[in-house]
Amino acid sequence: MTRLKERLARMIAAAGPIGIADYMAACLFDPVDGYYTTREPFGAEGDFTTAPEISQMFGELVAVWCVGAWEALGRPAPFCLAEIGPGRGTLMQDMMRTIARLSPDMLRAAEVAMVEASPHLAAVQERTLADAPKRPSWLERPQDLPRLPLVVVANELFDAIPLRQYVMGSKIWHERMVGLDEAGDLAFVAGPGAPPPGAVPPGPAPAPGTVLEVAPARAAMMDVLCERIAADGGAGLFIDYGYTGPAYGDTLQALRRHEYDPVLANPGEADLTAHVDFGALAEAAHGHGLAARLLDQGEFLMRMGLAERASALGRNAPAERRERLQSEVDRLARPEAMGTLFKVLAVARPGAELPGFSSAD
Ligand code: SAH
Repeated sequence: MTRLKERLARMIAAAGPIGIADYMAACLFDPVDGYYTTREPFGAEGDFTTAPEISQMFGELVAVWCVGAWEALGRPAPFCLAEIGPGRGTLMQDMMRTIARLSPDMLRAAEVAMVEASPHLAAVQERTLADAPKRPSWLERPQDLPRLPLVVVANELFDAIPLRQYVMGSKIWHERMVGLDEAGDLAFVAGPGAPPPGAVPPGPAPAPGTVLEVAPARAAMMDVLCERIAADGGAGLFIDYGYTGPAYGDTLQALRRHEYDPVLANPGEADLTAHVDFGALAEAAHGHGLAARLLDQGEFLMRMGLAERASALGRNAPAERRERLQSEVDRLARPEAMGTLFKVLAVARPGAELPGFSSAD
């Protein structure tokens, strides 16, 4: 049993079942035993690999987008270049290197801010960016970002923000909770509580056992960022795996050493995430009068010049390097890899011409 599991079991025995959001928050962010607060989960040695850790080209092409967005916004100076949930700091490292090359003016105008909830990961990011062309500041919450035009990016942030689950019973919805079975082990149980009416997909009631996910904390994060963009100007790029809801389905998953792990098996020692409902994020953007446009990651990266960048890096390089670049392109962009499951949501005031996104997207 993990130490966090013992603590949760004791707490549930004393005070009753907890919601999935509280379980997720404890697993990921418990100050003593949480996954992001105590570990460095990324890469071949860790539990999962993210796009910036797969290839430097990912951050370079996100930077190409940011430069184009900053130009389209009228080159605001000063402005805030922010990343939310930066993991090891690799994406911002690749971005700053690229922005320094493509647009020194933009780099000069930027106040770079890293928003990170885990002090442990913030320290890792500081080490990664020790030699970066601009020194970022670190903030714990997006509310603390400076009031400036905002160019903000986040990769695999929203999948790590806790969500709630509801299960259809024989007639009514129940909230899915984490309780204890007869042996005292963690188990899913049905609690009182129904989903907010707007979250249920239209149509007849679904079959018993159907799961519905609702993520108020994700909408709240998006709300803060969109309020800033609406009020102070700017643009946001949010990359994650997910779908366009409302839709039914249980997408909560635990990953440990690159393998799926039962969700309740090893709290604090496995990454715990759920697919992102981009429909709900777009709705939050619309609530602030912003336009929200969605592309598959593969399509987005191709439009930003993935193929050209790979051949530029491979020019005059040994065959082995060229093969590695090709395999990185394949992982990031092919439909059977990350190309279509991962999606890119761009938000800005209506009428802003964001690179790669035509108004038809
Ligand atoms: N973007 C990185 C890491 C993704 S993992 C990459 O692509 O490799 C999720 C990251 O989001 C971690 O750094 C985690 O600590 C952070 N995070 C999760 N919830 C957060 C919140 N509410 N505020 C700020 N950071 C958060």
